[in-house]
Amino acid sequence: MDLDVDAVIAAARVALPDTQRSLEQLARIPSIGADPAHATDVAHSANLTVNILQDHGLENVRILNLVGAHPSVLGEWLHAPEVAPGQPAPTVLLYAHHDVQPPGVVANWTSDPFEPVERNGRLYARGVCDDKAGVLAHAAAVKAWLDTHNTIPCNVKVFIEGEEESGSPNLERFLTTYAEDLRADVFVLADAGQWKVGEPAITYMLRGLATIDVTLRALKGPVHSGIFGGAVPDPTLCLAKLIATMVDDHNDIAIAGFTDDVRPLIATERQRIVDLGSTPEAYLRAAGAVEGVQSSGDPNINVFERLWAHPNLTVIGFDSHPLAGSSNQIVAAATARLSFRLAPGQDPQRVCTTVIDHIAANTQFGLETTTHIHEAVPAWTTDPVGPAFEACERALEKGFGKAPVAAGMGGSVPFVGPFVNAFGGIPALLIGPEDPHSHAHGEDESLHLEDWRKLIESEIHLLSELAGLDPSTSLGDAN
Ligand SMILES: [Zn+2]
Repeated sequence: MDLDVDAVIAAARVALPDTQRSLEQLARIPSIGADPAHATDVAHSANLTVNILQDHGLENVRILNLVGAHPSVLGEWLHAPEVAPGQPAPTVLLYAHHDVQPPGVVANWTSDPFEPVERNGRLYARGVCDDKAGVLAHAAAVKAWLDTHNTIPCNVKVFIEGEEESGSPNLERFLTTYAEDLRADVFVLADAGQWKVGEPAITYMLRGLATIDVTLRALKGPVHSGIFGGAVPDPTLCLAKLIATMVDDHNDIAIAGFTDDVRPLIATERQRIVDLGSTPEAYLRAAGAVEGVQSSGDPNINVFERLWAHPNLTVIGFDSHPLAGSSNQIVAAATARLSFRLAPGQDPQRVCTTVIDHIAANTQFGLETTTHIHEAVPAWTTDPVGPAFEACERALEKGFGKAPVAAGMGGSVPFVGPFVNAFGGIPALLIGPEDPHSHAHGEDESLHLEDWRKLIESEIHLLSELAGLDPSTSLGDAN
């Protein structure tokens, strides 16, 4: 088949203002999956996603429901011509998610988190980058192919998850129920990031995640701190001390047994990371660290190795008495939410057991302890080699005019590992619109519009580059 990719790119550029309008429409919906008060908004954003995929030429667009889960959306276009007699074109599953993180402190946003605003070439709103830009990138690439050629070089399924930001709690059930609907030869995810503005990346490492709540209770109800302080232990202080016992002087994890199953990097993996050559200081600056703040983590280990291949603890929530209205009381109980990023090799359930054992052994004064595990997701890595990976490299180089960097990401996308394993270890290509200034999950989240256009154009190239691959042979080296 003779395909004029330049014409497809030109069509995507003409359609870009419409694509951005659809993105803005989607970003106006506060589809905060983790907050039950926003469940109807998540349903609303699923419905709008259905409309968007239909408007962009996808067929059989439907909501994939599961009792107790937020709705996901699937559309498809499965009429790609054979690439050779008897050789069907591969089926590519394009993944993004339509649920978003809570906005955080709304007062810290320069503009309303749910009213997209463009400033200096970036579009600001919650979810605009993570990951509604991914939804529209897939849709726009499909539409540009269909508008110009009435066909796409690959069979395409577009899957838009509704529970990514809640840790995909129903993933196993979901993959069992919808395995045939989702079956594909290659997985393309647009929920990862750029190396820098203007410089694309392909992500081949994701950390795992285990989230545990721990509550320490001393009392049935609060008591006077003057009358009882000195005899009744303070749960807030005990909880702070307990958490402090979980890390060493670098704030690296020091829980007995926790790191036993960390898979050390092999020499080629470590070299790939060292070759990227960054410093912790550069990372701190990109994060917006205030003057004088130094990097945590063992300084003898490369910063990317620490970020991508080592576990880490963040206290993402802490309940005691708020400052407002505080008085001279010993509170009855205090709770912390502990978020552990996990390294390759780690078994999340085993890790959670070591944390719970540590809590039992290190809680002072016999305080009553309660723990609750929220999510437990293993890390995912793949070897960034093979024909699918090379096709992705070529596509990004054409789209951005720059070869992509093979990179890790310290975050977690629970869907990736179970999905590629469900289909026999198909290749997974993780790309996406986030750059170091996007503030995904933070306040003033934003999307770099020029890079987003290049991402859409890269996806157009990718659908052409992947078409020639033979799905009957192994397309990559996923593991
Ligand atoms: Zn995301």
